Amino acid sequence: MSVIVQKFGGTSVANAEKIRGAARRAIEARRQGHQVVVVVSARGHKTDELVELAAEITSRPRPREMDMLLSTGEQESVALMAMAVHELGEEAISLTGAQIGVLTDTTHTKARIVSISTQRMRDLLNAGNIVIAAGFQGVDSDFNITTLGRGGSDTTATALAAALNAELCEIYTDVEGVFTTDPRIVSSARKVDRISYDEMLELASLGAGVMHSRSIEFAKKYRVHLRVRPSFSDGPGTLIAPEPDQSSSIVTGVAFVRNEALVRLIGLPDQPGVMSHLFTALSFAKIPVDMVVQNVAREGIANVSFTVAEEDLPGALQVAETAAEKLGAIEVTHSTGLSKVSVVGHGMLTHTGVAARMFQVLAARGINIQVVTTSEIKISVLIARSQCNDAVNAVHDGFELHRPTASMPEIGVAAKERPLVVGNGGRTALAEDIASQLAGMESIVVSDVYVDTDQSRVTISNLPDDPGIAEEVFTAIAEGGVLVDMIVQNAARDGRATISFTVPFEDVDRSLLLLREVLERYDGSSVTHDRHIGKLCVVGIGLRSHTDVGSRLFRTLADNQINVEMINTSEIKLCVVISAEHAAKALTLSRAEFGLP
Ligand code: ASP
Ligand code: MG
Repeated sequence: MSVIVQKFGGTSVANAEKIRGAARRAIEARRQGHQVVVVVSARGHKTDELVELAAEITSRPRPREMDMLLSTGEQESVALMAMAVHELGEEAISLTGAQIGVLTDTTHTKARIVSISTQRMRDLLNAGNIVIAAGFQGVDSDFNITTLGRGGSDTTATALAAALNAELCEIYTDVEGVFTTDPRIVSSARKVDRISYDEMLELASLGAGVMHSRSIEFAKKYRVHLRVRPSFSDGPGTLIAPEPDQSSSIVTGVAFVRNEALVRLIGLPDQPGVMSHLFTALSFAKIPVDMVVQNVAREGIANVSFTVAEEDLPGALQVAETAAEKLGAIEVTHSTGLSKVSVVGHGMLTHTGVAARMFQVLAARGINIQVVTTSEIKISVLIARSQCNDAVNAVHDGFELHRPTASMPEIGVAAKERPLVVGNGGRTALAEDIASQLAGMESIVVSDVYVDTDQSRVTISNLPDDPGIAEEVFTAIAEGGVLVDMIVQNAARDGRATISFTVPFEDVDRSLLLLREVLERYDGSSVTHDRHIGKLCVVGIGLRSHTDVGSRLFRTLADNQINVEMINTSEIKLCVVISAEHAAKALTLSRAEFGLP
């Protein structure tokens, strides 16, 4: 019989009436012939209240006791939910994390799941019970109660769905589903019917209100189909699944991070070991870094920029200044009052002109782009915070995201179809592997490292730092039908900007021709290119919180005298451009570093 996991968040079980409503949904699924596991969070603001209560007693509660305390919220909910099911005439049994067999490591308050034993749940399901499982909690090997971090019930639900090989994991919550952007900023924001794991992860700042990122990472790793649904209506919500929705728009959503600050290290020697030093220091200081950009060096001098949350700026500056001195950089500068705006969508893999389109709509509103980074399915720009809402609205309108299946509007640049490259197969192929992977379930941060040697790099230097420049460059390229992959624009110096990007190897000559006219318009600008590059990417989960991923990659390259020419980051990827001759070696070394076969 197929298993369905249903998770109810705090607001969906806030009072007796809502608990009954949730119980009815579980019973409905049971009567449709599924085995049902219900995962519940603490009621309403219970967890917050417990946190406040602890704070009234001590400013430094021990983490072990915090877990003991916070886990009670979920214990209350499971018992009430089981009673509600009984009252409606079905069999149900509640279980705590320990009783289910959710074994975690010993990191109290943010434990990671090590394994889940399924036998007890299976036996109870086979005996006809609805199993009501406490979310957010587990137990370490010494039987201490642990919790998975705030919002962790989503992770419990996804993990149970993976362990039980469930057909679907439904996340019931107080929103209609995942939206194209924050409806508080854009009134025409629309609920998305379907989204891929990677899109959801790249939209982290949007998704945050809907689901815990970590649970999406889990779902991705074990190919769990998730459906985010409203608990207050019968709405179908949003399906989060491996395959992108091929009938839908090229762009799926617009995300933003409002409070960013930028740190620049200017005049670094362009040699192996520089990034390794900087990132080891940042990782040691536990400063989560968001965008990291390095553009191609000129005359042996490289400039590196990175962004951090504004409140982390003092710490980041301290690290940067110490590193700069050690590395012999010319200076460290910083800017505040910045926001990051990103468009995300699988359509970018197959359609040209997405970047051009984004830059066009920003230019049309006079918004200057200070930094650009990309992943295969995401383009992020750093802009002035005062223009953030305006930019989000402009981009949402520009891609016509209020329309259910907008193709890219043909203003200026036509979107050109490219043959579709679809990812891995569905769940079934992986199902057998799942049990064996469950050991050390959450210990893997890096899921893949790959290298692409089919691309060339083009760099345009000495461009004026004005709105509309990126638009001109990428419109020219898109009009020629060239699919641009990685784009890097570092913070401008002395009012001059440098933009680098990669294109398919066979398109590099055409790209250079297409750029000729643009360059003629700007005195002093010049273009260089490198026909043979290696683009090395580390794909992972929680790369931002695990700052050591960057430092380990950079150290591995530095130890082997491999120079990093260009850097680009997104929520789920860290890519570097190295010379093509080092590509194979860099791949072997970094796969070994991250324990991949
Ligand atoms: N009750 C926990 C929290 O509020 C876990 C959860 O809701 O997912 O963070
Ligand atoms: Mg909650």
